[in-house]
Formats: sequence, structure tokens, C-alpha cells
Amino acid sequence: MEKWRWTTITRETKTIEFKTGTGLGAPRSTPLVSVNGLKKYFTTLPTFLERRLAGASPKITRAVDGVDLHIHKGETLGLVGESGCGKSTLGRVITGLYAPTEGTVEFHGDNIQMIFQNPYSSLNPHHTVGQIVGAALKKRGVSRNALQDEAVLLLRQVGLRHEHLSQYPRQFSGGQRQRIGIARALATRPSFIVADEPVSALDVSVQAQILNLLEELRAELGLSYLFISHDLAVVHHLSDRIAIMYLGRIMESGPTEAIFHNPRHPYTQALLGAIPRIGERSRLSELAPGQALAAVNPSPGCKFQLRCPRKMAVCEHEPPEPSHVPGDPGHAVWCHLTERRALTE
Ligand code: SF4
Repeated sequence: MEKWRWTTITRETKTIEFKTGTGLGAPRSTPLVSVNGLKKYFTTLPTFLERRLAGASPKITRAVDGVDLHIHKGETLGLVGESGCGKSTLGRVITGLYAPTEGTVEFHGDNIQMIFQNPYSSLNPHHTVGQIVGAALKKRGVSRNALQDEAVLLLRQVGLRHEHLSQYPRQFSGGQRQRIGIARALATRPSFIVADEPVSALDVSVQAQILNLLEELRAELGLSYLFISHDLAVVHHLSDRIAIMYLGRIMESGPTEAIFHNPRHPYTQALLGAIPRIGERSRLSELAPGQALAAVNPSPGCKFQLRCPRKMAVCEHEPPEPSHVPGDPGHAVWCHLTERRALTE
């Protein structure tokens, strides 16, 4: 018999609902995580000087502007987009670190944890590894007597050793620090982890080790991930499905192979064209600029119109609805071109 627990957290003026429980016995078709109509807006007040000089009013940045996502048990969803597209904000709203402006997150699992981009700044430099992991174990209710044994088990699980317990974060390499961050996330036995650019601060050789570790942990512990990255090549190896995000909205989503072999959205096509060859860095930043401006002053139509080489008149005033790609199950595109093509196929 399932045991469900409902927790409602209200912050600001809106409500986010987490449906939590054992997850056992949930129907296969029930997503582990459902994100529905999620929005997160930030308001920036003008400085004193701006008000005096230009009579400026508050700016609203639509970091997340109406996102729907579903992630199933044991699945990895790769969330890809350039810096500032809202993907990290979306991850933080899903984990409850930020309250949504609007929309809901429904979660049918035990708990959600986050692995952060910068393993150094996310670890307290004044605490030993034993204290960092121990604090997370205490939250799970592990007794004082069992803390050390449990902490050693966790360290082994992420490729660290017993003697590391008494050391401080500054004594480790970047890859080892990220392993500590992963051990801390695992301490509460989560069923779902939001990994926010977990390898972007690491050397290329170390990136592969951490990605392999995440993949092994997923298989061993039955985890599900939202894997956030600006790098499609990194996401390709780990993800079952990929969602492409631009200016707070999803542009295209589908199975990984469908996105790579049959990309339909002009933005996805541009991202794929920017994937570097082995040994090169990603060239996403070489795409035409315009993102930050449009996040603050969005036009009513398609969010990608300022950079789109295939823009039509309709794109300026009508936001595209999702269209399913014929013959490609689970592949959806938010673009008027695909809408028109779908109507004629
Ligand atoms: Fe380009 Fe229009 Fe499609 Fe947007 S809806 S991506 S502007 S063609």
C-alpha cells in the first residue's frame, strides 16, 4: 500500500506543491516529477542614479516563463541552453530553493537533492569532509554511533577513501570536491537529483570520470536526474531525453537520438552546428547575441525571433504552440515552421 505525504510550501504570493511518498507501487506511466506551467520572474529595482537620470521603473526578468516537463523513474532528462536561458533557475525552483512565481512541481519520490556547478563554493571550507557528509546523514536520522561507518560507505561509493574524512575541501582536486558534493547529495537517499552543470568547472579528462560515476550511481541506486548543461555533447552521453531551453521556454524536446538526428527547431540546429570536434571547446557563445535584452523586454511572439534566420511575420506576434513531429514519438517542437509542416504531412 502506498504511503503518500503531501507538503505544501507557500512563499511569495504563489504556491508550490510537492507530492512526496515512497513511490513504491506508482504506475509506470506516472512521472516521478511533473512540472506544470512553471514561471519564475525576478524584479530588479532601478538604482537611485537611474531613477534620477531616466525615471527608470523596475525591470522584470522572466527567467522561467511557462515550462512543462515530465521525468520518469530511472530516467535522465538533459536540459540544455546557453548561459542565462533560465535552466539553473528552473532547477532551483524544482528543488524548492526558489519559490515559483506561478505553476506547480509535483514530485512522487522520497526526496530531491542538488549537485552544484562549483564544487568548491558549495562546500563549507571550514568543515572536514566527515562534518559535511555527517551533517547530511544526520538529516536522514542516522544515529551518532553509525555516522562514521555510513560516511565511509558513502565515500567509497563515490570513489573516495576513509582517510579523506578528516580532510578539508581545499586539500582536494576539483574532481574530488565534486565527488564530495555527490556523496553529500546521496546521504539523504534521494530518488531524484538535479545536477546543475556538475562537470563544467572540471578538466575534460576529469569530466568523463564524474559523468561515468553519475551513470553508475543511476544504475546502482535507481536514480533519476535532471542534468543541466550548456553543452549538448556532454548531455548526449548521459540523457535518455533532451529538452532545449531558450529565454525561459522549452524550444524542443524528445528522445536524445531524435534531437541529434532529426532536430527541427532552428535553435537546436544552431546548437548542434556549434558542437566542437574532439579537443575543442563548445562554440555556443558564437551565436548572435540578443538573449539578455529579450529576457527583460520579451516580444509577444516567438522568444527566438531576434536570432532566428528563418523568422516569418507570424513569429513576431504569435507564440508557437508545441507540435509533435510525425513518426517521431515523444518529439515536440515549439516553432511555426514545424506547425505548418505538420499540417501538410
Ligand atoms: Fe524562428 Fe519563427 Fe520558428 Fe521562432 S517560430 S524559431 S522565429 S521560425
